[in-house]
Amino acid sequence: MIVEVANTPREKPCSRIQFGYFDKILGKKKPQDRLCQNELNTLYMEFPNEKLYKFPFKMFNFTHDVLDNWLNEIAIESGAEFRDGVRCNDIKESNGSYILTLKPKHQDIELVSAKYVIAADGLSSSIRKKIRPDDFARKPLAPTMNYYLKTEGDGDLDPHTLYQFWNLEFNNLMFAWMYKKNELWVVGTGHTDNLIERCDNLLKYVQDKFGLQGEIVKREGYASIFKLDAPNHVFLGCDNMLFIGDAAGLVDIYRGLGMDAADLIGRLLANAIIKGEENNTPPLTLYKKYMRKTIKKINKNSEKQLLIYNNNKELTQALKRSFINMGLGTLFGNLLNKFKSPSKLKLLPA
Ligand SMILES: Cc1cc2nc3c(=O)[nH]c(=O)nc-3n(C[C@H](O)[C@H](O)[C@H](O)COP(=O)(O)OP(=O)(O)OC[C@H]3O[C@@H](n4cnc5c(N)ncnc54)[C@H](O)[C@@H]3O)c2cc1C
Repeated sequence: MIVEVANTPREKPCSRIQFGYFDKILGKKKPQDRLCQNELNTLYMEFPNEKLYKFPFKMFNFTHDVLDNWLNEIAIESGAEFRDGVRCNDIKESNGSYILTLKPKHQDIELVSAKYVIAADGLSSSIRKKIRPDDFARKPLAPTMNYYLKTEGDGDLDPHTLYQFWNLEFNNLMFAWMYKKNELWVVGTGHTDNLIERCDNLLKYVQDKFGLQGEIVKREGYASIFKLDAPNHVFLGCDNMLFIGDAAGLVDIYRGLGMDAADLIGRLLANAIIKGEENNTPPLTLYKKYMRKTIKKINKNSEKQLLIYNNNKELTQALKRSFINMGLGTLFGNLLNKFKSPSKLKLLPA
């Protein structure tokens, strides 16, 4: 049974961009009509010294309301019971199983018994907060803001390009971003201080630079108190309560991505439960084994996050150092992924 507190289809703050291997992880090719009208096939990177790089790079461009609904449909076709508008309020252990308290909107509470609980409740996971409150800070750590613009044309921008602006003045968590989502341009960034001012400055910068004219029709803020920068913040669970996706701590602020890890881990977790049941081995033991490489990468990347740089000069030097390695690693990773089984895929960019 899958329970989702929101009424579906639901949107969520996210850039909603993924790479070619996403289909392989999902195990199904996404139908074209579930993607945005404009494909993304070029990556633009701008460094603090305004040096520009452009590469051909195929990405998937979609919105969560449409794509996630399709995933829910697949789950239902495969036999899952999917219930939206239902909040999981509490989980208690009882005689080797779990009793979940579910609260459907405008209806009475229900108690459901389960052998396994998979906590997939995102970066604000209330389940994780209950059992590991120290993994969360008091104040938001990584707030982000997106402005959605209705524009007159595209100015000098290419609607098939993902624009990244690496500059600590705009974003001290990762790159600031701009891309087109169907008919709207999205300009966004994240910063630990004065976020709105930074986003306004970024907007002015891109409007001046690319001659983009238009008005903001939607603002989308997001803040999390999850300590993603803490060492070893990935937590896979205890007993038969298993964590996946952002709730496990798998969103990678260095790569700026989390959906691939969330889906990969879902596949590995399903394998761990099936194999564990067959061999009488605790699924958590197998799950931890399958996840070793991915966790290593997430931990390594959380050490490389931008908060460690004091100024743009240091950031530029670090970008220059990693640029060739990252480029070649991504190129070869992409090629090798074509031959790898879905559960062995290397997360990109390298
Ligand atoms: C600004 C921003 C930009 C991003 N851009 C990208 C990107 O371009 N590409 C990428 O790969 N990743 C991106 N990410 C990360 C990506 O959004 C996440 O890593 C990914 O969506 C995690 O999926 P998830 O299923 O673990 O969690 P979520 O997608 O957050 O899903 C959790 C679900 O649980 C539900 N829920 C929560 N509590 C309960 C409860 N008690 N009971 C029932 N349901 C509950 C929520 O309503 C939600 O639908 C971005 C994130 C942010 C913040």
